[in-house]
Amino acid sequence: MLKVTDIDVSYKDVQVLWDISFEVKQGEFVAILGANGAGKTTTLNAISGMLNIKKGKIEFLGKDITQIPGYKIAELGIIHVPEGRRLFPEMTVRENLEVGSLFPEAKSKRKETIKKIFEQFPILEEKQNKEAGTLSGGQQQMLALGRGLMALPKLLIMDEPSLGLAPVLCKQIFDNIKEINKDGVTVLQVEQNVVQTLQMCDRAYVLENGRVSLHGTGEELLNDEHIKEAYLGI
Ligand code: ATP
Repeated sequence: MLKVTDIDVSYKDVQVLWDISFEVKQGEFVAILGANGAGKTTTLNAISGMLNIKKGKIEFLGKDITQIPGYKIAELGIIHVPEGRRLFPEMTVRENLEVGSLFPEAKSKRKETIKKIFEQFPILEEKQNKEAGTLSGGQQQMLALGRGLMALPKLLIMDEPSLGLAPVLCKQIFDNIKEINKDGVTVLQVEQNVVQTLQMCDRAYVLENGRVSLHGTGEELLNDEHIKEAYLGI
């Protein structure tokens, strides 16, 4: 579904990604793991058209999207839920969801999509008329996820959904994302929460200093000596 081949990305003249290659197949749940500053967010931003790609190619459903602007990439079905959620805090929960239905097809299905989201996240229905800024961190992450779903994504890109959440909420959000993936949405997720992510993803790529250093199934990487030493402290 998504094929990234040998991309390099720089901020002005400072290169931060080198020869990044990976793929995500239809229906998969793929994770990108790595420490702070490894280049995970930059990789996601490159896919969703927010950065200039110096070298390499990105294909989505067979189409070259390397130089396509972000709004067109979203229209093709790649929906990015950014790190830090970026909600509109003074708009209500419902209004935040509604702005997620960006394109004509999503707009025409807005009512039924909101209904499904409220079934999955009853707290959002309960708080639909409250300002988003009054929600707890976990509820805001649910809302950010819900807003992403309003666009009817083919590929949902999640940037560190567990950031700042207590472990119990983090597990709940991960369960929600897994459920969405089981419902047929392909997921690409960046995380620092290595163990939980490897337990739930199909495959993962590890980024170190702007390069892919390892990849494998979740189970393979959980048993990998380098992962155990570098990320799990075993
Ligand atoms: P984190 O988990 O801390 O978000 P990350 O793995 O997502 O880390 P990136 O945010 O992609 O890493 O950052 C990769 C490198 O690019 C880092 O050295 C970072 O300082 C640098 N960087 C990120 N954004 C910018 C920017 N807008 N301008 C300049 N350098 C940047």
